[in-house]
Amino acid sequence: MERYWNPELETKPWPEVVAWQCQRVARMVTDLRDRSAFYRRKLTGAGAAPREADAERWLAQLPFTHKDELRQAQDAPLPGLPLGAQQAVELRRVVRFVSSSGTTGRPVYYGLTGADVEAWADGVANAFFTAGIREDDVVAHLVSLPMVAGGMAYALGFERIGAAVAWLGGLPPERMLESMAALRTSAVLATTSFVRYLTEHGERLTGHPVRGLGVRKVLGGGEPGLGEEEIRTRVAAGWGTDHVRDTMGLGDVLASMWAECDDVSGMHFNGQAHVLVELIDPVSQEPLPWREGMTGEAVYTTLDRQATPVLRFRSADHLVVTAISCRCGRTSPKVRCLGRTDDMLIYKGMNVFPTAIRDVALDAAGEELEPQLRIWKESTSQVRFDHPIPVEVEARPAVAAERYPALARRIEDAVRSRLQVRVAVTVVAPGTIPRAAYKTALVQVRPPVQGATGPG
Ligand SMILES: [Zn+2]
Repeated sequence: MERYWNPELETKPWPEVVAWQCQRVARMVTDLRDRSAFYRRKLTGAGAAPREADAERWLAQLPFTHKDELRQAQDAPLPGLPLGAQQAVELRRVVRFVSSSGTTGRPVYYGLTGADVEAWADGVANAFFTAGIREDDVVAHLVSLPMVAGGMAYALGFERIGAAVAWLGGLPPERMLESMAALRTSAVLATTSFVRYLTEHGERLTGHPVRGLGVRKVLGGGEPGLGEEEIRTRVAAGWGTDHVRDTMGLGDVLASMWAECDDVSGMHFNGQAHVLVELIDPVSQEPLPWREGMTGEAVYTTLDRQATPVLRFRSADHLVVTAISCRCGRTSPKVRCLGRTDDMLIYKGMNVFPTAIRDVALDAAGEELEPQLRIWKESTSQVRFDHPIPVEVEARPAVAAERYPALARRIEDAVRSRLQVRVAVTVVAPGTIPRAAYKTALVQVRPPVQGATGPG
């Protein structure tokens, strides 16, 4: 059986991959000055193309692109340029529009030419191939929004592999499950929240547990979660398969770029042919080495994008490098996603991601907890906490209510010692925390309490 989608790029030593990519970025930068007014302004003063040995240093002096800049550019449409000044081809060459997910403000729109569509299909296919999808699979594609990265682009990637796609996104969940049974789907792809929703509610919706569907491969993506052992174990048990894989991409860059291989120890980067990825310190903005345990923000540069290229795009996704070598032979780094900059909370100067709190809680008391957690804040804009961060976790049915306080203290101690952050944990009864069907918001705004005074 084929092991790699792109054997040359997936197994070439990583520094050689980066050197090859830098040469392509250099060509793009030269070309971009002519093609896009947005990048012409941005690239004023950027140095000339690099010698091979200096390529990474040359790359580091190029300007970043922020999503807000693209949004603003799009707010000032120009004749023939509905995508704003970053649009780098004539409109007649654009064959499709795609959109960022809009989870962080108004969506930004991007364009694809025929060649861009081909490149996306190849890149997405590479990621899903790494995650174990093959041409004999029948894939239930459960994402409903065609225009976001996880819509049309995922379908294209599966088709490129040669798998048969059953695009069921948008149907009511019980109809999805009925269609999956009828088509004998062998694989399923959905947001991690929706995978978990079906795992828990499938039986209630159809009268049959989802493990009876015979699905052998479960792919989740779009948000952190499957990297957590407790959540992965539940999903595996629910569907009756050990093949549970995490994937990740970005509508602004390439719909799917990261996916777990058979080693299931973090997501490999699979976009080598089309995208260069850097890891940076989000504060100093300096590049960081791909080294095990390193954390930083992912920054992406497209190599061959025609309609809307991006140059050093700040993704706001925070990654932790889990390994830089792998038994599977792939040379790209492996990561887990910790969350987005917008998710980050600050307790007395310490940064913490909600996913990290969930991780520690499940690690400390997974036997007694449902993998559900909710963090309360006082207002949408609250990021800083001067008092312990209020956290709710859900007990399993077997845990007696009189044990809740001791359980809460155990989790508080674990979070404090592991993350140097104080949380105030309340243990609640099973089923109290609502399950999300699209993406799980771990942080919610607390509804105002009658008679309470505001935070001033
Ligand atoms: Zn691997």
